[in-house]
Amino acid sequence: FIEIKDLHKTFYSTNQNIEVLKGINLKITKGDIFGIVGFSGAGKSTLVRCLNRLEEPDKGSIRIGQQEMTKLTKRELNIQRQKIGMIFQSFNLFESKTVYQNVAYPLKLSQYEKRQMKERVKEILELVGLSDKIHAYPGQLSGGQKQRVGIARALANNPDVLLSDEATSALDPQTTVSVLDLLKEINQKLGITIILITHELEAIKYICNNMAILEQGEITEQGTVREVFLNPHSHTGKLFIKIHS
Ligand code: ATP
Ligand code: MG
Repeated sequence: FIEIKDLHKTFYSTNQNIEVLKGINLKITKGDIFGIVGFSGAGKSTLVRCLNRLEEPDKGSIRIGQQEMTKLTKRELNIQRQKIGMIFQSFNLFESKTVYQNVAYPLKLSQYEKRQMKERVKEILELVGLSDKIHAYPGQLSGGQKQRVGIARALANNPDVLLSDEATSALDPQTTVSVLDLLKEINQKLGITIILITHELEAIKYICNNMAILEQGEITEQGTVREVFLNPHSHTGKLFIKIHS
């Protein structure tokens, strides 16, 4: 369903070029919750940002469903991005907009008609358990509630894929579990494929089926969560298991 082949990305600057992705190959099946784990600076965020071309890769291909992401025109890309939701560690909500307006924002962009938009926002807020906060501002919400708004916004356009970049890293353990439970529910109810990027191995253990380890811009390990946990081969894999056991 998602296939990444030989993906390269270098950041160029006057004094130093940093090769952040050094030929990434990944296959993710439809309906999977796929974890990507790696230490800070490994290139995780760059990788997810390349997937929806928030960052332009230098080389390689990214197929999501039927679409080759690297070949899309600006216009096609905008349409395809509606099918790819994204959530972040810092939530990235519009602070001056209400919960309703935040969730409605992507629907406005895809030209929903007002009444349909209202219904969709209500429906999706119900799914994430935030119906009572519809008129609240982000500043009035807890971290967990903010992330639920982030998830609702990411799901508004009925995406096929949800990219989660450290979405639980700013949350306490209890709230983390409740957000992960919500992601699992979304995966099961709506069949959305989820890519969970994190440095928290527990999060991966808790909801992922398959995983990969990213180490300095390279995938050093890939398999079922069970396989990787039982028998890690890579440096990062071994270190992670050691820290977390
Ligand atoms: P973290 O766990 O801290 O979020 P990460 O695995 O997500 O780390 P990235 O954010 O992808 O790592 O960054 C990987 C490397 O790329 C880092 O060395 C970073 O400094 C560099 N980098 C990222 N974005 C840019 C940019 N826009 N310009 C230059 N260098 C960048
Ligand atoms: Mg990151």
